[in-house]
Amino acid sequence: MGDKMKIGIIGTGYVGLPTGVGFAELGNTVVCVDKNENKIKALKNGKITLYEEGLEDLFHKNVKNGRLTFTTSIKKGVSDADLVIIAVGTPPHPVTKEADLRFVYEAVGEMADYLNQYTVIATKSTVPVGTGDQLEKIISEKNPKADFDVISLPEFLREGFAVHDFFHPDRIIVGTNSKRAEAVIRKLYEPFEGKTNFLFVKRRSSETIKYASNAFLAIKIHYINEMADFCENMNADVLEVAKGMGMDSRIGSRFLIPGPGYGGSCFPKDTQAMACMGRQNGTPMTLIETAIKGNQARKKKMACRILNMVQDISSPKIAVLGLAFKDGTDDCRESPAMDVVCELLQKGAEIIAYDPKALSTAKSILNDKIKYTDSLYNAAQGADVLVILTEWKEFKNIDFERLSQAMQRRKIVDCRNMLNAEIAKRHGFEYRGIGRV
Ligand code: NAD
Repeated sequence: MGDKMKIGIIGTGYVGLPTGVGFAELGNTVVCVDKNENKIKALKNGKITLYEEGLEDLFHKNVKNGRLTFTTSIKKGVSDADLVIIAVGTPPHPVTKEADLRFVYEAVGEMADYLNQYTVIATKSTVPVGTGDQLEKIISEKNPKADFDVISLPEFLREGFAVHDFFHPDRIIVGTNSKRAEAVIRKLYEPFEGKTNFLFVKRRSSETIKYASNAFLAIKIHYINEMADFCENMNADVLEVAKGMGMDSRIGSRFLIPGPGYGGSCFPKDTQAMACMGRQNGTPMTLIETAIKGNQARKKKMACRILNMVQDISSPKIAVLGLAFKDGTDDCRESPAMDVVCELLQKGAEIIAYDPKALSTAKSILNDKIKYTDSLYNAAQGADVLVILTEWKEFKNIDFERLSQAMQRRKIVDCRNMLNAEIAKRHGFEYRGIGRV
């Protein structure tokens, strides 16, 4: 192995692309592989395929210096690679909700023939416990001569902060018993030595850590959402409650932010997958099961809350601010906003939506079921109620004067507690936040 490594990344999505760009920036030669030809064509033409702050500049820089290339050929990504990172999707199975490993198996089956030197195959995709064992078996059976180790290298980046999190990880968890693989990973992460926590554990423990962490965070969100409902009934303020709770260092203040329910490409699917693993293996995960049900109900509850405000209108015009599952990303997968919008549509509402970054991804899901616009005040024009569903910072500075001129009726449901209730009321708005009366 030379000074820097040759790395193949299989799957060039929200994880694979920032990871590929990041390792290229650290001086490695990175080949990003994806089977989606349009994606690779765009990337080859210098067009970035997803929004992440700071990604585009690093992408162009590393394409230009030749360290970052794109291909649809797994062979090109895997041949001569010191390390192959699997970052393909592991979506929920439509019926059973367990993690669907089709893409992982496909990628691994295909790469087996091209392993032509000692290669570490690292699974960054979130995979059920024991998947590493399966992958090892698939490769050995297909190519008995292959010299390789399969390790678990779970990804903890947050969408919206992917570049930041790549360069400043909280922790690097590595699941392997192989000293040879450990040496490769230590070399890879040499620039982070002394700057972050490294934990080398059994492969199955590493696979479990990823699910256990995501499920815990999802439960924490569900917990504060339930607490918000409690506060509404008891005339307490959930923001004050969360602040007080968060001052206890054993609890911590993060993820104690009430809202319309957790979403995104990870929490919903990973909680479902963990619950399935628990059921299948005789250890039901009752807290996780409860959080899943509660979170599903929450989105319906939000839609009811919105409709209640305009119950006297048969086909209310609703301005929706925010479609992404959170701020800082264009990702709308499992976005609570999507579920709330669908629920509102079913009840006959007319919707016009604005999102600073996610309009085109939202369009690919909702098509022409709703109208889209490029400014929040355009969305508000003639609306009966305005609803905030994603916590984009620009919504914080809303101009109430302009808003009241634009809207048909002055009503706001703020599912992210972005606005100042007192100021809204002073401008004559009927305002409803979350967990505060
Ligand atoms: P994604 O859908 O954005 O990207 C996956 C990519 O893999 C797609 O571009 C797809 O075309 C490609 N692909 C599928 N099969 C392939 C194959 N056989 N060969 C080559 N390419 C193939 O998914 P994502 O959000 O990047 O997530 C990837 C994995 O990482 C998932 O397991 C997810 O749970 C996990 N993860 C995601 C995040 C996140 O924030 N998105 C965080 C941590 C972990």
